[in-house]
Amino acid sequence: MKSVNEQKLFRQAQEYAASYMDTITNRPVFPDSEALANMQIFDEPLPEKSCTGLEIVEQLHKFGLPATVAQTGGQYFGFVNGGTIPAAQATQYLTAAWDQNAALYLMSPIASYLETICQQWLIDLFALPEQTVAGLLSGSSAATLSGLAAARYALLDTQGWDVNNDGLAGAPRLRIVLGEHAHSSVFKALAILGFGRNQLEIVKADTQGRMRVDLLPRLDNRTIVIVQAGNVNSGAFDAIDEIADRCNRAGSWLHVDGAFGLWCAASNKRKHLTKGLEKADSWAVDGHKTLNAPYDCGIILCKHPRALTSAMQASGSYIQYSKERDGMAYVPEMSRRARSVELWATLKALGRTGIEYLVDSLHQYAKQFANELKNQGFQIRNDVVFNQILVACDNAEETEKTLENIQQSGDCWCGGASWQGQPVIRVSVCSWRTDESDIKKSVAVFVKARMVAQQALR
Ligand SMILES: *Cc1c(COP(=O)(O)O)cnc(C)c1O
Repeated sequence: MKSVNEQKLFRQAQEYAASYMDTITNRPVFPDSEALANMQIFDEPLPEKSCTGLEIVEQLHKFGLPATVAQTGGQYFGFVNGGTIPAAQATQYLTAAWDQNAALYLMSPIASYLETICQQWLIDLFALPEQTVAGLLSGSSAATLSGLAAARYALLDTQGWDVNNDGLAGAPRLRIVLGEHAHSSVFKALAILGFGRNQLEIVKADTQGRMRVDLLPRLDNRTIVIVQAGNVNSGAFDAIDEIADRCNRAGSWLHVDGAFGLWCAASNKRKHLTKGLEKADSWAVDGHKTLNAPYDCGIILCKHPRALTSAMQASGSYIQYSKERDGMAYVPEMSRRARSVELWATLKALGRTGIEYLVDSLHQYAKQFANELKNQGFQIRNDVVFNQILVACDNAEETEKTLENIQQSGDCWCGGASWQGQPVIRVSVCSWRTDESDIKKSVAVFVKARMVAQQALR
């Protein structure tokens, strides 16, 4: 039985957590300089003596909390970060207490079982081929790494080469075709897998960042093609349908980086963007972005179970695989947290219609945001096809200064990027909590930030 002290500790931690969530909409979106300076309290030599759990949670509550970013609030538009729906956040309280290792069925039957359920639901939601398998991992970076490893295994296998046993040196040469706007995590995964930058066949992009299909090289059965469903800056979608047809005719492997955009397949209004999705071979998608599942939650989906499990092979006399699902067979990691529980909770809490509503509202609020900014004289540099907006002022200097002011305001937060050689303010509408009034307040922050910028630059 738990000691009285343990009970007190958990109650206290829950109370602190609840008070954080109660104030999420009023706290600064980004910590102020005092909160940042106060982080110094953590800078001490490794303590010689132990201290109590109550001291730990108290220090975190007092000095850690003020230096958090209000990602779960409605006025955070940075990167493509997403919030967390309450049902999933509450589930995290449980999974924290359960502390399951999801490597094997024998370590956690429930984590394994819910992984299978999530797999079935995702196949259904995205209308993927029924033999598709899913692996849960930290994010789309890890998912793309896994999908491309499966591709490498499968294409070399077709050439009569076993990459697991014979390695890459001396292997038949594979070709990699991808758009110049592919996400940095794709280039990272390729480098880890032995495909150097100078060996890639990089296809020029159009003004929205989409791979130009007319420039696609001739494909063959030694080629891996990578498209994206959702450009991380503009939100644009590659022409998946057309590219998939060409891949299938040639016997190429098609991987889709759909980190946040794949969820458009769940919306009747947005699914034209992901048309042809089911013709691909592997898909990377995040639970922690558009779906608003808690961090961290990435998913690799692969139509070729043997290719994925062969690429992720692991053995050892003590690893007891069972007849049930052993999650580690589909991912690079062995010990893993039980993401399936939170992913299941998120999918179940929203349901099919809730997911569709979420996708549609993110788009609707992004349109509203873009329109109101345009009415205030800002330039919108992309077609707002989903949830991403690229904003600019009259000149580069003013854009940069305005962004700086927005980031310092504490009232909303956006990141920046370079688009077509020009600085832009990058807005990602990605939280279920964002509503019309958040957009109105944030537009006012933009206007004020630009006014202050103009005064400073005059
Ligand atoms: C966020 C993102 C990634 C990386 O995903 P992580 O979950 O951060 O690893 C890859 N591709 C695209 C298009 C993204 O938006």
